[in-house]
Amino acid sequence: MLPSIVSPAAYVSKHASIGGGTVINGEGLFRTPKRILEEWREDHGLKGYGFAQLKRHFETIEKDLNVEATPISNEQNTNLDSQKLIQGANSLNWRTEFVPRAAKNCSYTNSCSIGCPTGAKQSTLVSYLPRALKAGAKIKENQIIELILSS
Ligand SMILES: Cc1cc2nc3c(=O)[nH]c(=O)nc-3n(C[C@H](O)[C@H](O)[C@H](O)COP(=O)(O)OP(=O)(O)OC[C@H]3O[C@@H](n4cnc5c(N)ncnc54)[C@H](O)[C@@H]3O)c2cc1C
Repeated sequence: MLPSIVSPAAYVSKHASIGGGTVINGEGLFRTPKRILEEWREDHGLKGYGFAQLKRHFETIEKDLNVEATPISNEQNTNLDSQKLIQGANSLNWRTEFVPRAAKNCSYTNSCSIGCPTGAKQSTLVSYLPRALKAGAKIKENQIIELILSS
């Protein structure tokens, strides 16, 4: 992780880790909307990826990654940033909604995008990679893949 503040003020962070983008993403996890899947089918001819066909996979992933929307009654348990956003939205009469997130026992440190300090975020690093290792997969870091062969 390499954070830097430049002038004019902008926050840039660069990271290298096993687990790819999920290690530094915002942990929001949504099902691909039906209209997008329709678009992929109609405009790009993608077959076999309709909502009905994907539903059981969405459910499996949500279970694997402990995805659950933070109940609205837990507003006080969120971080101060979120509380301020909610207050601001309320004062403008805007509707707010908690997003489904891939997290387990989140401490609301709001550090998702610089890497979860508590391991609560269910990134690939703490979810699927340990499973793959258990199943016999091997991780080789700093290797560039040039060609993938399939039979
Ligand atoms: C700051 C940030 C916040 C985000 N927040 C969200 C969010 O809240 N919700 C959401 O759904 N998405 C979010 N995203 C997007 C999401 O994280 C990515 O779409 C997702 O991680 C992509 O996963 P991937 O496995 O396809 O690719 P990646 O995570 O990019 O993984 C690809 C991996 O392959 C490696 N690689 C690439 N080329 C080679 C090669 N030739 N040889 C060997 N290795 C190679 C890369 O180094 C990398 O580790 C966010 C992204 C960012 C950057």
